[in-house]
Amino acid sequence: MLTTTSKNKRYRLLKSLVPKDSDILNYTTHTRYTGFIPEPAIVNFFNGRIWSRLHTPFPQQKIDTYINRGYFETTSAVNTAPKLICRRCLNEQPHKFVSFHCAKCQKVCHYCRHCITMGRMCSCDELILWKGTETRKFKSQVKFAWAGNLTPYQKKAADELAHSISQNRNHLLEAVCGAGKTEILFTAIQESLKAGKRVCVATPRTDVVLELYPRFQQVFQKITIHALYGGAENNAEFAQLVLATTHQLYRFEHAFDAMIVDEADAFPYTYDEALQRAVLKTKKPDAPIAFVTATPSNKLLLQQKTENWGYSFIARRFHGHPLPVPRFQSLWNYEKALQKNKIPQKLQVWLYQRLQQNEPFLIFFPTIELMELATPLFQKIESTIESVHSEDPERKEKVLQLRNEQRKGLLTTTILERGITIKNVQVAVVGAENPVFTSSALIQISGRVGRNIQYPTGDIVFFHHGITMEMDQARNKILEMNRHE
Ligand SMILES: [Zn+2]
Ligand SMILES: [Zn+2]
Repeated sequence: MLTTTSKNKRYRLLKSLVPKDSDILNYTTHTRYTGFIPEPAIVNFFNGRIWSRLHTPFPQQKIDTYINRGYFETTSAVNTAPKLICRRCLNEQPHKFVSFHCAKCQKVCHYCRHCITMGRMCSCDELILWKGTETRKFKSQVKFAWAGNLTPYQKKAADELAHSISQNRNHLLEAVCGAGKTEILFTAIQESLKAGKRVCVATPRTDVVLELYPRFQQVFQKITIHALYGGAENNAEFAQLVLATTHQLYRFEHAFDAMIVDEADAFPYTYDEALQRAVLKTKKPDAPIAFVTATPSNKLLLQQKTENWGYSFIARRFHGHPLPVPRFQSLWNYEKALQKNKIPQKLQVWLYQRLQQNEPFLIFFPTIELMELATPLFQKIESTIESVHSEDPERKEKVLQLRNEQRKGLLTTTILERGITIKNVQVAVVGAENPVFTSSALIQISGRVGRNIQYPTGDIVFFHHGITMEMDQARNKILEMNRHE
């Protein structure tokens, strides 16, 4: 049993270890009886994370010491009994596991293909999980630095969302593209951070993380914010606010007091059961999830009703102007024309109009192949035109160059369907009848137009080889939103 004096001494020592101005955990309950003080760097790094035992940023001996002292739970990366389950991404679909004769363990071993992009881990590899989470408490010093104003619609939704989150209640925020969703989130995030909660904003798209990160840094000051996406640096400190692609969630477990899933309907989140489970495992068991989207799936709408979540709806853009309505224009045999190295006439006319009027533009293509066929033809007309797709390492730069008016326009796959905002942008979809263009994708694409208050309108055209139901649905939904008050 420790005496009061030695406890105080230890507390003073502890305080001296802790940098004053950062978001710090309170270790006192943990250290009181064990007589061992975990290093802040270790606690900050591992709190809420699930990590490979052998690949941490710390010396292996140190990690082993902490494991021996009971600070970590260790677990096999792939559980084999009673059935195969990946401990990292919770995938349990048998066809996503590979069994092989393993040189390390000299047995038949299994690894999960589903989360292999985060490094291959097989059944004889170990993951470690920090156990000390119950001792955490923040001294949050978050400073809210946002000078903007919310419209009455935004304000109502922002208050409703913040109320749900404070009550640990799930919430669905349905807001048209351009409603100013990010600003609507500020209140809920700010209140959670102020209450010392750890918050995660997850989105399926890297582009969205990249767009939100600088804005969040501006608005939420004096706290550590991390942006996590494939290829991002691994930050060792503890972040009270984490922005992550849904894939990066695999690295966390019971970490967050509030989860916000932005663009909740976007691929791959909708289709991927394992990703949905990852969202559930990432948050603490009683932490609420807020889903934010312009195009909720029927499943999400049903869940909202049956499970009695909070709900907010905004049919108006922040600037009050209606959503641009897509027009349909036939572009028969466009594929054949492009294969013969010709830009179909109507598309060419559209392109020249943009160039003459000096309007930036995005042209969406259904496949990378078709887009790459078209790119040199467009470049012959205007050399600054470029194309982007999901694997393009220069994607960020190219979008930035379009925004800075160094490029006239971009050809793109659906990768740019959401998250990006370019002043006065005009948009065309080539091959709008292709099945990749679902009604929600088409609504999102149309939502790129007219977002800026100085340019609240613009052209959105669906060039097609036959009108589909999805195209009709997209247009009808937009018209319906415009009728709302
Ligand atoms: Zn093995
Ligand atoms: Zn996995």
